Amino acid sequence: MAYKITTECISCKLCLSVCPTGAIKIIDGQHWIDPELCTNCVGSLYTVAQCKAGCPTCNGCVKEPADYWDSWFNTYERMISKLTNKSDYWENWFNIYSQKFSEQLQENKQAIGT
Ligand code: SF4
Ligand code: SF4
Repeated sequence: MAYKITTECISCKLCLSVCPTGAIKIIDGQHWIDPELCTNCVGSLYTVAQCKAGCPTCNGCVKEPADYWDSWFNTYERMISKLTNKSDYWENWFNIYSQKFSEQLQENKQAIGT
């Protein structure tokens, strides 16, 4: 399946110049990928889809899912990558939480004299 441009596109035009097959067009002010021309960048110099690689948005340019499960896995991978990008957040949260918890435990022990 070809790549497609979604409503997250901010019309920066970056993908227009990088597409090796000229598949990206502007129609009525909207960026659009011609599925007849898009080769998914397979067989070109590139190993990844150039439109997606250069797109400054998260999901402005995505691969059109071939079926339900493709779509499901795309969403799953997006969610996982968003969550794993926040691993620092959860690590910090856990460190602060466990520190506060042990402080409170210590205070309680002192209060009851054990
Ligand atoms: S995947 Fe490659 S060929 Fe298809 S639109 Fe994007 S840059 Fe062009
Ligand atoms: S690079 Fe992304 S945001 Fe920019 S025009 Fe292409 S699809 Fe839209």
